[in-house]
Amino acid sequence: MSMFCKATGLLPTPGREHRDPRSPLFSCQRMQRLTIVLLVVVALLATLELSGVMAKISPRDRVVAWTACALLISVAIAVMLLDRYVTQRKLEHIETHLRRLACEDRLLDPIETAVPDELKPVMTALAEYVAMVVARVDALRQQKRELDSQMQIVDAEKHRIETIMHSISDPVLAIDARGCLSLANSTAEGLFGFRLPLAQGRPIERLLDDSRLVALLTEPGSGDRHRRRIDHTIATCEGARTYAITLSCVLSDSGTYGGLVAVFHDITRERQIAQLKSDFVCAVSHELRTPLSSIRAYAEMLIDDEARNEEQKREFYQIIETETGRLQRLVNNILNISRIEAGALPIHREPVRINDITREVIKALAPHAEEKSLSLAFEGDATLPTLRGDRDLIHQAVMNVIGNSIKYTPTGGQVRVATSLDPKSSRLTVTIADSGIGIANDELPFIFDKFYRTREGAGAAKGTGLGLSLVRHIVETVHRGEVSVTSERGRGTTMALRFPVRIT
Ligand code: ADP
Repeated sequence: MSMFCKATGLLPTPGREHRDPRSPLFSCQRMQRLTIVLLVVVALLATLELSGVMAKISPRDRVVAWTACALLISVAIAVMLLDRYVTQRKLEHIETHLRRLACEDRLLDPIETAVPDELKPVMTALAEYVAMVVARVDALRQQKRELDSQMQIVDAEKHRIETIMHSISDPVLAIDARGCLSLANSTAEGLFGFRLPLAQGRPIERLLDDSRLVALLTEPGSGDRHRRRIDHTIATCEGARTYAITLSCVLSDSGTYGGLVAVFHDITRERQIAQLKSDFVCAVSHELRTPLSSIRAYAEMLIDDEARNEEQKREFYQIIETETGRLQRLVNNILNISRIEAGALPIHREPVRINDITREVIKALAPHAEEKSLSLAFEGDATLPTLRGDRDLIHQAVMNVIGNSIKYTPTGGQVRVATSLDPKSSRLTVTIADSGIGIANDELPFIFDKFYRTREGAGAAKGTGLGLSLVRHIVETVHRGEVSVTSERGRGTTMALRFPVRIT
């Protein structure tokens, strides 16, 4: 029996390491060996039986031998089933143990884990594998942390760039190397009519209608011209606007083209002002030249004694006086505007009767109205209180507005002037209504700007575009009143100058 146990490995053999007391009695290896031994015994018995050796022993011994053999096989099968059961239990134990480790977030320790001897190498390999996975996970976590911090830096950088872009009042577009929109500030969104979240990453030609602008934005700068400035007019919902576009190429470290940043600076107003200034210089020169030439011509005639008689002489003097007055008005307009703007014009406040001033102006301008066969009517409210103001400046303002009505009303038209009082708002109003050429709606907001002349007005009469600017300064800046205008093109214009009065 001890021989049998030794052969099957059920007992420790000398020289072999001691069996772990926790290891099962019927391990897999032992069961395999036991099975082999049993097969050998059965094969031996079968050989003996077939060779007739068994026939020589008594039938009783043959029955005993075969019974012992059958018994051994039954025992072996029972032991195998038992071992399978025990192994199953052990595996369940390991599974429970691993699950508990997972729940407790602990690592596998093969020494601590009670496993059958034959599973120890598997558990050790498993523990090594788990350790390797843990190390890999740690490394990945570290990488993720580094990536997270890099992402934070990139996010902060992106946020910084977006903040800078949005703080720029001019429209800014950033286009990538493929010609797709990568960034735009809110002013650019407004100008081109897209929303950045929807437009980002889309080709710029799908976002803009203007093919020339698209070509400018998608062409990399040639040669070393990494920055270009191009003036371009863009059609907007408020009309055409001219922009000075600065196109700067974005280059990578290796010098390859990485896209383009375009900043649109609106120079419409500068262009208009430049145009207005040049128109102004022309107009002022013309305005100065006309009276100057006539003064010179009449002065020369007087010097050369060309006047036929005293009456004609007086007529020449009269013309010289009128033209000198025209020159004076022009120069006064220019000077007064700059003085009021600089706050350097001395204001002499005194009680002013607006009806008297209006009558004086009408009297002075009546000859001009007559020249054009205009009816110039005045309807003054006789109960008006006096207003405290600068007589000469108010005179100048009323003169400019009535003068404009006469200037911009075609022959045979009407100019009506009226004064009134609104006790509720304590405002005294001079209203000048004409049946003249009128002012287009889109130009109305600009007529009080310095040097501004309407398209139609510039064609109809000479002027400097300074008269109404001075009127607004005199009424609003000096007298704290208001100027308002209503007009219909081709039908006429009505201007109202309102001055605050103290009603007692
Ligand atoms: P200007 O010297 O050109 O008359 P103003 O400042 O007095 O300059 O007027 C500005 C512009 O407003 C004029 O050029 C003209 O086009 C327009 N305007 C002013 N008054 C009238 C009016 N009564 N009717 C039509 N257009 C007018």
